[in-house]
Amino acid sequence: MPKAEVEKARALGFCFGVRRAIRIIEKAAADHRKIATLGPIVHNRLVVDRLGGMGIRAMSNLGQLKGETLAIASHGVPPQLLSQIEASNLNVIDTTCPTVRSAQKAARRLADAGFAVVIFGEAPHPEVRGLLGWAGQKAIATLDAQKVTALGQVRKLGILSQTTQSRANFAEFVGKVTETAFPHVHEIRVINTLCQETQKRQEAALELAGRGDLMIVVGGLNSANTQRLAEVCLPVVETHLIETADEINPDWLNGKRLIGVTAGASTPDEAIEEVVERLKSLARELS
Ligand code: SF4
Repeated sequence: MPKAEVEKARALGFCFGVRRAIRIIEKAAADHRKIATLGPIVHNRLVVDRLGGMGIRAMSNLGQLKGETLAIASHGVPPQLLSQIEASNLNVIDTTCPTVRSAQKAARRLADAGFAVVIFGEAPHPEVRGLLGWAGQKAIATLDAQKVTALGQVRKLGILSQTTQSRANFAEFVGKVTETAFPHVHEIRVINTLCQETQKRQEAALELAGRGDLMIVVGGLNSANTQRLAEVCLPVVETHLIETADEINPDWLNGKRLIGVTAGASTPDEAIEEVVERLKSLARELS
């Protein structure tokens, strides 16, 4: 049997926001500052463990701080928490991704202009909880367009998205919300807050999935953008989401000619290379 080929998507792995966050935090740690992050700095266990090895620990609330410098994660925080942090006179480094910051500002602009705000996103995700805070009192976060009725009969409705959602799903959501909101609403304003880095990775994954016989998505199981990559590929080809090379089941490769690999925006290069090498080695054994 001819040997299966292993090909990486043309865009995959660390995005600029994650690289930037890790660079900022590592530099602070190298300057001999003790750092604690509010939640994991990015949604990838390997990255968090590596930073843990440098003495950077993740905590779940401000009360757990023991004199460390506080690092705000790339997902950002709501303004209420930001005020609390400022009032506490803590040493802070803020790694909020500039793309997330733009989405926060868009949410605030809509709220200030009197719009009720719908955020297309997973309500429990830290980025979405932050956006909800910036969107003011009359705001909801949901993936279900029907839930927009919870806002009541508003006249001005703003719609934006969690940065890591897919363009197709956001467009479909906007269409459904618009239908549901009529006839009460007078003005609907849609702001494209999708992250271009995420879109590039989704498009590249989809292109490879269309040519391949198997897709392996590498990344944190708790990472929203990694899950989205798997969702994009799954309707097209057999797809498996894994965190490390150890999770590869050799049976997946049976009868496959082209094996595609993609990875979430918080997946380190080493984890991707380890998966690629393991797949290549299994492909050699099967040929
Ligand atoms: S995926 Fe996009 S929004 Fe999220 S950290 Fe990376 S660049 Fe920023």
